[in-house]
Amino acid sequence: MKVIYLDNNATTRVSDEVKEVMLPYICDLYGNPSSMHSFGGQVHRHIEVAREQVASLINAEPEEIIFTSCGTESNNTAIMSALDSQPEKKRIVTSRVEHPAILGFCKAMYRKGYKISFVPVDKQGRLNIEELKASITDDTAIVSIMYANNESGVVFPLAEIADIVKPRGVLMHSDAVQAAGKLPLDVKKLPVDMMSLSGHKMHAPKGIGVLYIKRGTRFSPYIIGGHQESGKRAGTENVAAIVGFGKAAELTREHVLHKETKVEELRNRLEEGLLKTCPGAKVNGDTEHRLPNTLNISFEYVEGEAILLRMNEYNICASSGSACSSGSLEPSHVLRAMGVPFTSIHGSIRFSLSRYSTDDDIDFVLEIIPGIIKELRTLSPYVKES
Ligand code: PLP
Repeated sequence: MKVIYLDNNATTRVSDEVKEVMLPYICDLYGNPSSMHSFGGQVHRHIEVAREQVASLINAEPEEIIFTSCGTESNNTAIMSALDSQPEKKRIVTSRVEHPAILGFCKAMYRKGYKISFVPVDKQGRLNIEELKASITDDTAIVSIMYANNESGVVFPLAEIADIVKPRGVLMHSDAVQAAGKLPLDVKKLPVDMMSLSGHKMHAPKGIGVLYIKRGTRFSPYIIGGHQESGKRAGTENVAAIVGFGKAAELTREHVLHKETKVEELRNRLEEGLLKTCPGAKVNGDTEHRLPNTLNISFEYVEGEAILLRMNEYNICASSGSACSSGSLEPSHVLRAMGVPFTSIHGSIRFSLSRYSTDDDIDFVLEIIPGIIKELRTLSPYVKES
């Protein structure tokens, strides 16, 4: 049975074009890019091409791009660098709805004696800008605010946020892992000092990330060893993945900038169809400022896990808001921060599309889900539908 993959905020399929450019670096072109001989040297040149391709995606300079092992490493590196390079400053300002790659790291820093301010969001998942302003103190080393939320899809006004942070002389980082490939990204218009990207959210492989570091930003490396990545990130490069990321960046640029995708139209059709056919369904998050591919929807009084399991029987892949990535049944910290009632959190499903999603995928989901919800509602101890 065909897989209907609507879980692209979790990970994406590697594009065929990306796979093609990667293959030679897995077997044939295995030279070490740091070697003096030309067998290694040619590999080095391809890393630099990939750096240019990624830089061009976000309108940065190639020397402002470093390759890391993943989005998590990029996020950890940005914060650690800010703390290390400004030892007199002890505070991190972030939001309550960041990915664990930021929240978990901040909590670890808290245990080491740093102070953390978690800026709240409102019921629509929008950042409280007044609280953000009030959180920035003289001892703030860095403000780290995501561009787009992985669960709700809500997009934060990053340019406005940077305009608040930068005049205070504070470093600004953004986790743009979910924004890349879905929104145009231009670091000349978004005046952040550092920005994280991840390959596997934009049709490159897993295990490759990028950290943009604006020229002139004080930087302290997190992974220390050899001289790779201009001394900013040690470790022999994951060449195949880097080359793949470069290609994915080039393809993404074409799709996002030239709007060569109907992902938003498909997402809207899915949303309208589910709202029409499933009584009591509610969309979570600000629908005006939202990633074009994401729909977070609650089916009250139905367990998200039960919906996913039933969907799984039809090979439909999505995520639920009641199980976090660790597999525990903790309700989503994002939906909790938004004040979504527990009955809705437990029945929430995140559908996330990609440029490979098709009309047939959406038709199939709209055919299957209403029946699943109806059936599960009849089993719910809380609800009796007429
Ligand atoms: N930041 C956000 C917003 C994410 O959604 C994710 C992955 O889900 C990450 C960071 C972590 O990226 P990676 O899986 O490359 O470590």
